[in-house]
Amino acid sequence: MPSQIAQILDGKALAQKIQLRLKERIQTLQAKIGRPPGLAVLMVGDNPASAVYVRNKERACTKVGIASFSRHFPADTSEKELEQTIEELNQERRVDGILVQLPLPDHLDSVSLLHKIHPDKDVDGLHPLNLGRLVRSEPGLRSCTPAGVMHLLSEYKIELQGKQAVVVGRSILVGKPLALMLLAENATVTIAHSRTQDLARITRSADLLVTAVGRPEIIAAQMVKPGAVVVDVGINRLVDAEGKSRLVGDVDFNSVAEVAQYITPVPGGIGPMTVAMLLHNTVLSYTQRFEV
Ligand code: NAP
Repeated sequence: MPSQIAQILDGKALAQKIQLRLKERIQTLQAKIGRPPGLAVLMVGDNPASAVYVRNKERACTKVGIASFSRHFPADTSEKELEQTIEELNQERRVDGILVQLPLPDHLDSVSLLHKIHPDKDVDGLHPLNLGRLVRSEPGLRSCTPAGVMHLLSEYKIELQGKQAVVVGRSILVGKPLALMLLAENATVTIAHSRTQDLARITRSADLLVTAVGRPEIIAAQMVKPGAVVVDVGINRLVDAEGKSRLVGDVDFNSVAEVAQYITPVPGGIGPMTVAMLLHNTVLSYTQRFEV
């Protein structure tokens, strides 16, 4: 019998709540603006995980009343063709958000393509202008996954001021923007990565531990401070001997739940929050373009 079971930070439930609020807001705004918000998700090739993510995003759009302008391109699509599509979507008045689903096939330069998206339609918050706004703590479109982490912490009224936060992972998609968001909330932030020495010593110092690594269950109970808040961004697919697959995070959920105070599950934690933040950003862009 475990001695302590951490409280679950239920990203799925909060994401549903956010979607409901957005649906009501869109209904009101649509009457004023005369059209629904629009989101274009561009997918290239047939990466099965990406296909699932894109389908989830499209379903969520339909649920809240966002019009979908998604495009699926063959794996050998040229960069020029994608640039032209992005340019058309930048001009398209019915589209408020543009997202390029990553990863892209190797022959495409994702950074260069992301820079082509108009910053006002950059609902993934990855354009240098939006990242710069984050660094300066100015309003702007924020990366969906780190924004989802922050919303979830805020929903559960988790105090960040003066707390020791450790973010494991330093990607531009998750780790770096998240560290800046935590800093803006006055946490004392440490970023760990693959070259960090004695990771366990650092993670054990964390009041808030966030992992965005992509290695199944590398964070075990002895790496976690008793009473810590643990947020697991990682999504890893494990396949058993019979070929059955399941998703796990970077955190060994069962053992860590015995020492942590709060913990996010995988799935059902940050994944749904990321989608909710994408919808939130699309509506934000829609309202800002019409100044309502
Ligand atoms: P990424 O670009 O591959 O970055 C992984 C980071 O982890 C890197 O900074 C890397 O360090 C660090 N790392 C790798 N091995 C490590 C180790 N043994 N110890 C400490 N740090 C280590 O991945 P990402 O895009 O940030 O995604 C991370 C994970 O989050 C993945 O599982 C991804 O599927 C998941 N994810 C989930 C969502 C969601 O909606 N829930 C959204 C985005 C990503 P270096 O920089 O030194 O290489």
